[in-house]
Amino acid sequence: MTPGLLLYQPSEACGVFGIVAPGEDVARITYFGLYSLQHRGQESAGIAVANEQGLICHKRMGLVSQVFTEGELERLTGHAAIGHNRYATSGSSHICNAQPILLKTDLGPLALAHNGNLANTVTLQGQLRRRGCAFNGDSDSEVIARLIAEAPGATWEAKIERGLSQVLGSYSLVILTPEKVYGVRDPQGVRPLVLGRFNHGYVLASESCALDTIGATTIRELAPGEGIAITPSSAISYQLSAISHQPSAFCIFEYIYFARPDSVLNGRLVYEARMEMGRRLVREHPVDVDFVIGVPDSATAAAIGYAEEAHLPFFEGLIKSRYIGRTFIQPEQKLRQLGVKLKFNALPQLLRGKRIVVVDDSIVRGNTTREIVHMLREAGVSEVHLRITSPPLRYPCFLGVDIATYQELIAHRLTIAQICRHLGAHSLGYLSLEGLKSSIEPVSCGFCTGCLTGEYPLPIRSTPVPDRVQADGEEKS
Ligand code: 5GP
Ligand code: MG
Repeated sequence: MTPGLLLYQPSEACGVFGIVAPGEDVARITYFGLYSLQHRGQESAGIAVANEQGLICHKRMGLVSQVFTEGELERLTGHAAIGHNRYATSGSSHICNAQPILLKTDLGPLALAHNGNLANTVTLQGQLRRRGCAFNGDSDSEVIARLIAEAPGATWEAKIERGLSQVLGSYSLVILTPEKVYGVRDPQGVRPLVLGRFNHGYVLASESCALDTIGATTIRELAPGEGIAITPSSAISYQLSAISHQPSAFCIFEYIYFARPDSVLNGRLVYEARMEMGRRLVREHPVDVDFVIGVPDSATAAAIGYAEEAHLPFFEGLIKSRYIGRTFIQPEQKLRQLGVKLKFNALPQLLRGKRIVVVDDSIVRGNTTREIVHMLREAGVSEVHLRITSPPLRYPCFLGVDIATYQELIAHRLTIAQICRHLGAHSLGYLSLEGLKSSIEPVSCGFCTGCLTGEYPLPIRSTPVPDRVQADGEEKS
């Protein structure tokens, strides 16, 4: 057995942004784009710009607002830029993995930003190392950047296509070269990527909310397996032919939790999809209560939909601190004891003596949910009925959302009745997979439902024990 061939990687579901717009303050526009994609990643942020001197990059650990000063933005002048917000689990949260990744190639410099997660990182890292490649970090994104940088090809398009031909997994990429910005979506379109027009230029972003923020008009979402080259005057699309056609597998969790509610994914406004999830929860799990609250912010739309369908009042029974975010404050430190109180505060004056439905989007480990139920009981709620807008999360995600290992997932270990008891709730109802899919209609692309069903769109064989998965043909240590 060869050690080190485990496939499970710390997952990432980041935000990416790209722009070509000569004469505009491209770094500042990218900064605003990243600001509106901050929910996709809070570990590190970075911007790379292209100008006559070449490419320059600034990246640091922290939130967008912490990473860039006015001075930094003024230094980053250019005609094109890309940016990245990184979401990583603790192990690999390090500056060496921050993006964009800047590399030299035989065609000139390249900067790359990646949202997604590869399934064959270790194999590819090994191959690259044997060819003499030295890595700066341990991320799968650097593997993609290095594969593209060293791929043969007389054009960037050829290099990108060749570099990606060996890659297995999910990727929405923005790539900066001295003249153009490239956008690429993996063949199954697991992560989103949208194209827009900005004055005399083009932009690419993980979500349409970033285009709205900067005042760009959305043109369309990239298709699975599509590459696009943007210049100030053109957006030229091409299909990555070296990549075989596979059914699309858009991450359903983007609709449940990850995306901002004001983003449009596959033509469907996320807010509307979430409201519909709430309505369907009423039909699937009705209960007699006094009113409905949601766990802010991701479940607010669903709670409003639930209340509307059930003809019940909706209140903000929990107030969320707007400024909590993920910061450098490590949970191990003193603040851990404050737990969920740092994030939410209940309104006992509204809640005392009431029977309520609490709508949330998902239960992962159960820790936050348990604290919330406890907080509501302390505030005097007489009955807490939990309604969740996803089916139980029973399987880890290997394609880019930070969904834990099998053992950490409460729904992998316990039955729904046991989870309900563990959380201290009076009842617990999960939305069915059919109900979830119907809520997203009329979107008819295929979905990745790996975290809900254990059926992954890639050749990943997963076994509950031990707590790891592997791709076909990979050895397990
Ligand atoms: P739990 O009770 O499992 O500890 O936490 C559930 C909460 O985590 C839900 O309110 C849900 O909105 C949130 N959540 C779901 N997925 C993620 C994720 O990928 N990252 C973070 N930070 N929170 C998540
Ligand atoms: Mg939440």
